[in-house]
Amino acid sequence: MLPLFHHSMEAEKINKILNQKNIPTTPMRMLVLNEFLNTSKSVSLSELEEMLTHADRSTIYRTLKTFEKKGIIHGVQENSTTQYLMCHDNCDSDHHHDLHLHFYCNKCKKTVCLEEVSFDHIQLPQNYDYKEFKFLANGICAECRG
Ligand SMILES: [Zn+2]
Ligand SMILES: [Zn+2]
Ligand SMILES: [Zn+2]
Repeated sequence: MLPLFHHSMEAEKINKILNQKNIPTTPMRMLVLNEFLNTSKSVSLSELEEMLTHADRSTIYRTLKTFEKKGIIHGVQENSTTQYLMCHDNCDSDHHHDLHLHFYCNKCKKTVCLEEVSFDHIQLPQNYDYKEFKFLANGICAECRG
């Protein structure tokens, strides 16, 4: 399909995810999803723009919004930038279950999901209906500490 995908295994994996989420495959969606599959850390719109030099910002932005809506990625606000991360909790359209801690590293400026620090058993007082939960921590990540 695209020269970038030398390994058909890679393209197959990407296609499978898109199919599962009922998202029609486009070259741009494949490229963006590929970037997420190649990292365990966050990716921002600006970073994607740098990595995908032939794509324009608004197309990348729309792709991110589609992925977010369909439960492929979730966004975390960090220093006025939205960092996007892969969802690993069977998220689906408009229902995200990413109730875990997000750790921002002051050194590599990336956010990671700490799924082992989970908040999905938190009980709010009666009559409180949450729309989203934000659990943020910052410091130095394991990789940067060495
Ligand atoms: Zn999610
Ligand atoms: Zn780090
Ligand atoms: Zn997360």
